[in-house]
Amino acid sequence: MSQRGLILINTGNGKGKTTAALGVAFRAIGQGLTVSVIQFFKGKWKTGEMEAARQLGLELTPMGKGFTWESKNLEEDKELMRRAWSVASEKILSGKYDLVILDELNYVLGYGYLSVDEVIRCLQSRPSHVHVVLTGRNAPDEIISIADCVTEMRDIKHPYRRGIAAQKGIDF
Ligand code: ATP
Ligand code: MG
Repeated sequence: MSQRGLILINTGNGKGKTTAALGVAFRAIGQGLTVSVIQFFKGKWKTGEMEAARQLGLELTPMGKGFTWESKNLEEDKELMRRAWSVASEKILSGKYDLVILDELNYVLGYGYLSVDEVIRCLQSRPSHVHVVLTGRNAPDEIISIADCVTEMRDIKHPYRRGIAAQKGIDF
């Protein structure tokens, strides 16, 4: 079977971007691939995926400390995101992983905490077998143009708009 590393993007305003990426991780683990998931924002709360990853032996690294709109220290956020990117880019370039998931990276790019060019340079110089998945709303056009598979989640209905809070096991 020929292996060719792909760049996949899950974007759009509808729910399902992170969970679809975790679905790929689940599938890849089952095929014996080595997988690393880097979550750029998560870290403050314990999520279901953190516990499931521990049970499955899936490497999942929460690099954030919650959501940036809750933060009072933008410089600290920026530093945190830069550190997360340095960990992530090292993993991508190392060739040790068959699949690297960059969860919410699009948001980090949207905030201007990292340069799109820097991310593209890393993606383009990665070893040829490495698959990379990026998630988050508003994927930059420059990354969409170098990606192999781009899926836009469309928001038709979300319980949040009826005042229903995030549900354990469904949202986190
Ligand atoms: P999920 O992690 O459930 O796959 P996602 O990655 O597509 O969602 P994000 O933009 O990362 O969505 O936002 C994460 C949180 O925001 C989740 O709790 C999710 O349920 C919620 N969310 C996602 N889309 C919407 C929406 N259209 N309206 C309100 N809340 C949303
Ligand atoms: Mg998400």
